[in-house]
Amino acid sequence: MMAQYLDIKAQYPDALLFYRMGDFYEMFFDDAVNAAEALDIALTKRGKHEGEDIPMCGVPVHAANGYLLTLIRKGFRVAVGEQLESPAEAKKRGYKAVVKRDVVRLVTPGTLTEDALLDARRHNFLVAYSELRAGAALAWADISTGAFHVMPVAPVRLSPELARLAPSELLVLDEPVYQRLRPLADEHKVPLTPLGKSSFDSVSAETRLCELFKVGSLEGFGSFNRAELSAMGALVDYLEITQKGKLPLLQPPQQESEDRVVQIDAATRRNLELTRSLSGEKFGSLLSVVDRTVTPSGARLLEQRMSSPSRNLDVIHARLAALDFCVDQSAHSAQLRDALRKTPDLDRALSRLALDRAGPRDLAAIRNALTQAEAIAATCDDMELPALIAQATSDLQGFDELLELLDAALVAEPPLMTRDGGFIAPGYDSELDEARTLRDEGRSVIASFQQKYAEHTGITSLKIKHNNVLGYFIETTATHAAKMLGEPLNETYIHRQTTANQVRFTTVELSEIETKILNAGNLALEIEKRLYSMLSGAILEQSARLNLAARGLAELDLLTALADIANGENWCRPRIDDTRAFNVIGGRHPVVERALRQQAGESFVANDCDLTAQDGAAIWLLTGPNMAGKSTFLRQNALIALLAQMGSYVPAEDAHIGVVSQLFSRVGASDDLARGRSTFMVEMVETAAILNQADDRALVILDEIGRGTATYDGLSIAWATLEHLHESNQSRALFATHYHELTQLANKLPGVDNATVTVKEWEGEVIFLHEVRKGAADRSYGVQVAQLAGLPPSVVARARDVLDMLEQSSREGTGGQVRIDDLPLFAAAPPTQPAAPKGPSPVETLLEEIHPDHLSPREALEILYKLKETA
Ligand code: ADP
Repeated sequence: MMAQYLDIKAQYPDALLFYRMGDFYEMFFDDAVNAAEALDIALTKRGKHEGEDIPMCGVPVHAANGYLLTLIRKGFRVAVGEQLESPAEAKKRGYKAVVKRDVVRLVTPGTLTEDALLDARRHNFLVAYSELRAGAALAWADISTGAFHVMPVAPVRLSPELARLAPSELLVLDEPVYQRLRPLADEHKVPLTPLGKSSFDSVSAETRLCELFKVGSLEGFGSFNRAELSAMGALVDYLEITQKGKLPLLQPPQQESEDRVVQIDAATRRNLELTRSLSGEKFGSLLSVVDRTVTPSGARLLEQRMSSPSRNLDVIHARLAALDFCVDQSAHSAQLRDALRKTPDLDRALSRLALDRAGPRDLAAIRNALTQAEAIAATCDDMELPALIAQATSDLQGFDELLELLDAALVAEPPLMTRDGGFIAPGYDSELDEARTLRDEGRSVIASFQQKYAEHTGITSLKIKHNNVLGYFIETTATHAAKMLGEPLNETYIHRQTTANQVRFTTVELSEIETKILNAGNLALEIEKRLYSMLSGAILEQSARLNLAARGLAELDLLTALADIANGENWCRPRIDDTRAFNVIGGRHPVVERALRQQAGESFVANDCDLTAQDGAAIWLLTGPNMAGKSTFLRQNALIALLAQMGSYVPAEDAHIGVVSQLFSRVGASDDLARGRSTFMVEMVETAAILNQADDRALVILDEIGRGTATYDGLSIAWATLEHLHESNQSRALFATHYHELTQLANKLPGVDNATVTVKEWEGEVIFLHEVRKGAADRSYGVQVAQLAGLPPSVVARARDVLDMLEQSSREGTGGQVRIDDLPLFAAAPPTQPAAPKGPSPVETLLEEIHPDHLSPREALEILYKLKETA
């Protein structure tokens, strides 16, 4: 057995080998040591290899999924080695023959299909990147749904695309690409899998793809360049390796291009908190607030749309027209959502079926999904539908025959495993019914035997029981057994086994019936398995159309979910065209708005933003104190553009947006210790990327650029950046800064306007109004904000004095140093009293006097009032 183990293990040096032994997957040697640590399970040993103990650990097969998930999350790959025959079959080949085993599947992060291992509401993309001399390309697939895409990509655009796709695994050529891409992969936290040259060969890729899609040429799917072929080929090759020849149901590749979607790089995605908040969770992200989908596939589509808003006006208008319909027909939309809620995940059930990893419940899931699909399509029967919805509903129809078949063949709630049987409905197959009757009748006959034998032997406590070793047997206590072991009963009752307290018997009659039951049971199971394959074949035959139906359901879920939020949150329909307009009236930040409402019961102050550009740039330079709402304002406008272009209504009273091609968002000096760069360096690298890439269709958001360095350096950099944006990039931009000096630029540069977030000063404190209006802020109110934050009063007072001095000297044109030196140290405040021996406060004194046990309720209440007065 060890020889067999080592033989198999040698083929999977990079994976942990799960070696099936009965009810366990066992691991040996280093695999065992690593897995025991990663899973926190006991490490034992078994036998010796070359004189040394062999370390071993194992996980039970029935709980293997949980352990698999932990291992995959911790970066392992797992080769699952199964027994390919039963021990009995092996014995037939020879007394010492080892059960045949082989790896049936290599589990990697990008090739998961089990619901238990996947997040139902997210895609699980396996991505292949190919770089040839002629160009580079990305291919990606989600084998749990069958989605398959390909796109040429410039090597410099790889990082933003990885940020968009958030792959679970990235396949690259082993050398030299593997080494070169490691830092990038680390940055995006993507496990990198190197593959050999042959996997990426574009010529064999074509053959591989033609075979997969059973076509003579790929022309029908589009025209692909060599890099695209190579990337797709590598992906399919990897699936063949990991799935051991059982290929998933991939849909024909959809060709994407970079200019189809708004370009958003990794830093912008992070900063705008699109699908993940800054802390990395879904909570607090735009997605979490917008997501009102009721099916996993709708949620996946939403995430995809939000990650790649469109730049194509036809696409955007079609989506908005469909959304208008759902918003207007809100009662109908609600009805659709009710039906969708009951619709199982068609995509994933289908994919498990194709990979032979499905069970009867997947068949039922498909039946239930199709039943709902039909009901959903029927609700739209007499309606005038916009194109997108008309397409979606027509994709839901035409499954009558399949549905009839599944309806007739399956029970309402089938069991999980095929091997348990019991999922085919009675009445569907007469042979099966017969076998089942025989089996069940046999059981009732046996039940009647108990009575008969009790009477025959005169032992009323006698029982008929069943276990896997003996089958059916008669059981009695040791005291009664003597009677059965003696004449004449021993002629009928054959002794089988004696345990500590019981003695077990059988009879010829009992064994005969048992064989009958067994045979009938086996026959029934055989028939059920055959019918299972028939049904699964009938489903897979229609997989292409079923995929479209799944897509239609997802589309309807997304539309009705967006309609729900549009109606519920009072969002407006954006107007989108190919001008360079950007005019938002009464815009809001959906995430901040919700947080304010939920946490503080406050309402959000809506604000306008007009960055409409004719020729040249249109930039708002935003000043105002910290905490006034600058960042919120900046981001809300970026989010509104993004929501509009993904085809959603937006949180505003009105919005007119000329299509945005690129979205950039940067925040000054955020900590990025993980990447080991100084914060200022990161800020500058990111700013450089914008200044080098943004064009006159870009929307740029810069928040406090230059904050990360000394004042004058920072001011100069911000100044020059703003000029460059205005002169060269000519983008529409929002630029928040605390350098008031920059406001002068508005007079010099025609495309720059000053705007400020207003605050009111009242009795020496600031009150934030969160209103954005044209003009420059007069002061920064930093000291007041510091006071709000709870800085000790002496420090606040001292800061005020220093500030006055500095402002005075800057007005007089003298250097600040002299005056500051004049300022007596801590002149502003008496040194804080040492806190040490402090007497009890009046409240404490009062409390001291109370004896709760002696108080009447009324007295207690009075004391409460008194305490409140005193505090
Ligand atoms: P700044 O960037 O100017 O320091 P932020 O944008 O971070 O300020 O906003 C600070 C806080 O003010 C937010 O967390 C939010 O609670 C509140 N806020 C911002 N904008 C608004 C608004 N328009 N209406 C109501 N509250 C707002």
